[in-house]
Amino acid sequence: MMGLLQIVVMLLVVGFCAYQRMAMKKAMIINAVALVVLWIHGGFTWGLFISLLIFAVVATFYLLPDLRIDWISRKAYLFMQKVLPPMNETEKTALEAGDVWWEGDLFRGNPDWNKMLTIAKPALTEEEQSFVDNETEELCSMLDDWDIVHKRKDLPAEVWQFIKDKGFLGMIIPKEYGGKGFSALAHSTVVTKIATRSGSAAVTVMVPNSLGPGELLLHYGTQEQKDHYLPRLAKGEEIPCFALTSPVAGSDAGAIPDKGIVCKGEYQGKEVLGIKLTWNKRYITLAPVATIVGLAFKLYDPDNLIGDKEDYGITCALIPADHPGVEIGQRHLPMNQAFMNGTTTGKDVFIPMDMLIGGQEFAGQGWRMLMESLAAGRSISLPAMGTAVAKLSYRMTGAYSLVREQFKTPIGRFEGVEEAMARIAGLAYRTEASRVMTAGAVDLGIKPSVVSAIAKYHMTEMGREIMNHSMDIHGGRAIIMGERNYLANGYMSQPIGITVEGANILTRNLMIFGQGAIRCHPYVFREMLAAQMEDTEEGVKRFDSLLFRHIGYGVSNFARTFALGLSASKFAKKPVGGQTGKYYQHLTRMSSALALTSDIAMGILGGDLKRKERLSARLADVLSHLYMCSAVLKYYQDNDRPLADLPYVKWNMEYGLHKIQEAFYDFYENFPIKAVGKVLRFIAFPYGKSYSYPSDRLEQEIVKPMMQNCEIRDRITEYAYVGKTADDVTGRVELAFLKVLAADEVRRKLRKAMKAGELDKHATNMERIEQAIEKGIINAEEQQILVDAEEARMDVIQVDDYSHEEISGVVEDKPKKKKSKSS
Ligand SMILES: Cc1cc2nc3c(=O)[nH]c(=O)nc-3n(C[C@H](O)[C@H](O)[C@H](O)COP(=O)(O)OP(=O)(O)OC[C@H]3O[C@@H](n4cnc5c(N)ncnc54)[C@H](O)[C@@H]3O)c2cc1C
Repeated sequence: MMGLLQIVVMLLVVGFCAYQRMAMKKAMIINAVALVVLWIHGGFTWGLFISLLIFAVVATFYLLPDLRIDWISRKAYLFMQKVLPPMNETEKTALEAGDVWWEGDLFRGNPDWNKMLTIAKPALTEEEQSFVDNETEELCSMLDDWDIVHKRKDLPAEVWQFIKDKGFLGMIIPKEYGGKGFSALAHSTVVTKIATRSGSAAVTVMVPNSLGPGELLLHYGTQEQKDHYLPRLAKGEEIPCFALTSPVAGSDAGAIPDKGIVCKGEYQGKEVLGIKLTWNKRYITLAPVATIVGLAFKLYDPDNLIGDKEDYGITCALIPADHPGVEIGQRHLPMNQAFMNGTTTGKDVFIPMDMLIGGQEFAGQGWRMLMESLAAGRSISLPAMGTAVAKLSYRMTGAYSLVREQFKTPIGRFEGVEEAMARIAGLAYRTEASRVMTAGAVDLGIKPSVVSAIAKYHMTEMGREIMNHSMDIHGGRAIIMGERNYLANGYMSQPIGITVEGANILTRNLMIFGQGAIRCHPYVFREMLAAQMEDTEEGVKRFDSLLFRHIGYGVSNFARTFALGLSASKFAKKPVGGQTGKYYQHLTRMSSALALTSDIAMGILGGDLKRKERLSARLADVLSHLYMCSAVLKYYQDNDRPLADLPYVKWNMEYGLHKIQEAFYDFYENFPIKAVGKVLRFIAFPYGKSYSYPSDRLEQEIVKPMMQNCEIRDRITEYAYVGKTADDVTGRVELAFLKVLAADEVRRKLRKAMKAGELDKHATNMERIEQAIEKGIINAEEQQILVDAEEARMDVIQVDDYSHEEISGVVEDKPKKKKSKSS
C-alpha cells in the first residue's frame, strides 16, 4: 500500500512540475527532494524503488549528453530524416513566410491572456475616420449595384474618376509618394463599407491595395521604381493588375509554366540585357483596364548571363500594358459581377532587366515576395468582404424580419426564423471582432501568415453562411432580382471570395494547420531544419537539444490537458473576473489539448499528416476557433465590456467551444490508430463531452436587438452603408423599419380593439386603420403613424418585374415601374 502511495505521490509531483512547465533543473531538484521525503516517511518500498529507478535514468540522460546523443538522439535523428518528406525550396519559403503571432500562444497550450489583452486596441486615426465617414460614404451613395452589375457591367465613369481622384487606389501607398498611408484597419474598414453597397466596387478598390504591384513595389521595388510608379498608382494614373494564375496552375501556383529566358535584346533602340517572356494567364482582376501588369513567371538563365545558376525560380516583373507584345485579352464574367477580370498573354516578349520588381537582385525571389505579401494581405481584403456581408445582413435581415409579416406576425418572431437570425447575429459579432484583431496585427508590423489564413478561410465561410441564412429569411424577396434586391448580387458573388487568395478547401485542409503546426510549434520546424543539415554531426547536436526540450513540452501538455480536463478547466488562470473569466479557462484547456493532440499526431503520422488532410483540417478548426474566440474576448474587453454585448460574447464562446469539441471528437474518431484516438479523447475529455451548443434562450437574446433600434445594433453594423431615402435599395427597408417600430404602440391599440371584437379581423391593415379612426379608437396623429408604417411596409415587400424585352436583353429606354401585386 505504501509503495502504491509513493508512486501516486511521485506522479503528482512530476505532474505538478510538468503542469507548471518548470525548467528541467528545477524539476529534478523538486523530484529529488520528494524522493528523499518519501524515503524518510514511508521507508524503502517497491514503489520508491521504481520511482528512484526512473529518476536515475532521466537524471543520467540529463547529465550525460553524449550518452543521450548516442543512445537516443542519433537514432531519432536518422528516423526523422527517413520519415520526413523532402522539403523543396517552394515549400520552405511558404513555411517561412510571415510571422507567428498570438496564434503561436494558442497552439502551444498555455496562452498568456494578459499578453493578448494588453495589445493596444486597434483604432482609426482622425484622418482615417474622416475618410470613412466622408469620402467613402459619398462613394457608397454614388453606387447602384443593380446598374453596375446588370446594366453597365462596369462602374460608371464618374465613379471611376471619384475613386481615382479621392485616393481610394492608393490607400496603402505612403504619403511621401502621394498616397494615403492608411493603416490596415483603415484599409479594411473602407473595403468593408464599400462592399456593403457593391461587391464589384469593393473588389475594384481592394485589388490595387492588396497583393499586387503597389504592395510588391513598396517592399521590394528599387528606389527608381518606387519614385516612378507609386505616385502614379496613388493618383490612379496607373491601374495595376497582378497575374500569377495560369490555366494549368491555380492552387498549385508554384507550378506555373510561364517562363522567362535571360538574353540580350533591343529596348528603346539599344541592345540591353533582359528577359524573353512567354505567358498565358487567366482570372486576372483589373487586367482588362490595367495600364501596368505585374507578372509572375519562372526565370531561366541557360547562358549564365546574370550568374552561375540556370534555374532561378519564380520572379516578378512589372510591365506596362502597352509594352510591345503584351496582350490584354477579353473579359471573364465572374459570377456575373462587374469588376474587371480577364486574361493576359505574351509570346517571346522582350523586357529589360530593370522591369523586374526590385531589379536583377530580386531574380528568383518572386515566391518569397508573394508569400510574404500574402501573409499580410490575406488578413485584410477578404476578411473585410466577409464582414461586410455580416453587417449588411444583420441590419437588413433584422429590419426585414420585423417589417415582413406572415400569419399576422413579423417573421422574425417565429422560432425557426429566429434560429437562422441567431447565426447571423452571433457570427456578425465574430466577424467584426476577428476583422479588427487581424487587421490590428498587421498594423503592429506583423505579417501573420497563419492568422491571415484563418481569417481568410473563416470570414469568407461565415460570409457565405450568413448570406445563405439571409436569403432564406427574405424568401422570394431576395430571389427576384432587380433594383430592389440588396442580397442577390452578394449571394452570387460568395464563391469568389471562397476561391481567390488560396481556395478555401486547400486553405483549411493544408495551410492553417499544416503551416500553423510547423510555424507555431516551439521545436518541430527547427527539428526539421536540423534533420536537413548537410553536416550530420552538427545536425544531431542541434536535434538533441531540441528533442529533449520537445519531450518535456509533450509531458507538460499531457499533464496540463489531463489536469484541466479533470478539473473542468478550473486549474487554469483567469485574466479577468466576471462572467467571461471562465471562458478564458476553457480556452486554455482546449489550447492545451490542441498542443498535446498535435504533437501525438505529428509524432505518429509524421509526414503522412500532410496527406491526411481531413485530420489536419480538424485541428485547423480547433486552432481557428481558439483564435476567433480570443478575438471576441479581446473585442469585448477593448470596448469596455458593454452589458449589451454579453449575450453575444457568451454565444460566441459556447458556439466556438462546441465547434472545437466537435472537431476534436471527429479527429479522435478518425485517427488511424483507434486506441491512440481513444486515449487522447479520454485525456482531453475525461468526463465525455463538456460543451453544448448555445441554448435557444441565449439565441433569442442575441436576435432581439436585430429588430430594435438600439446601440448594439448600430455598433455591430457600424460601417454598413444604408441608403438615406425611401427610394434607395436599403434606405427603404431601414426607414420602413423605423416607421414600423414607431407604430408599435398604436398597433397594440388596434390589436386590443380587434381582440375585443371592435375591429374586423378579416379586413386588410389599411381597412382596419380606417375602421379604428371611425370608431375613435385612434386619433388623426396615430392614424398617420399607422398609415406611414403600412405604406412603407407595403413598399418594402414589393419586388421588381420587367418586360420580356428588358430581361432578354433588348433594353428599352426606361424599365417599366409597374410593381407586382403579390409580395
Ligand atoms: C474572380 C477571380 C479573381 C481572381 N483574381 C486573380 C488575380 O488577380 N490574379 C491571379 O493571379 N489570380 C487570380 N485568381 C485566381 C485564383 O487565385 C485561383 O482561382 C485560385 O488560386 C484557385 O485556383 P483554381 O481556380 O484554378 O482552382 P484549382 O486549383 O483547380 O482548385 C480546385 C479545388 O481544388 C482544391 N485543391 C487544390 N489543391 C488542393 C490540395 N492540395 N488540397 C486540398 N484541396 C485542394 C481547391 O481548394 C479548390 O477547391 C482569381 C480567380 C477568380 C475566380
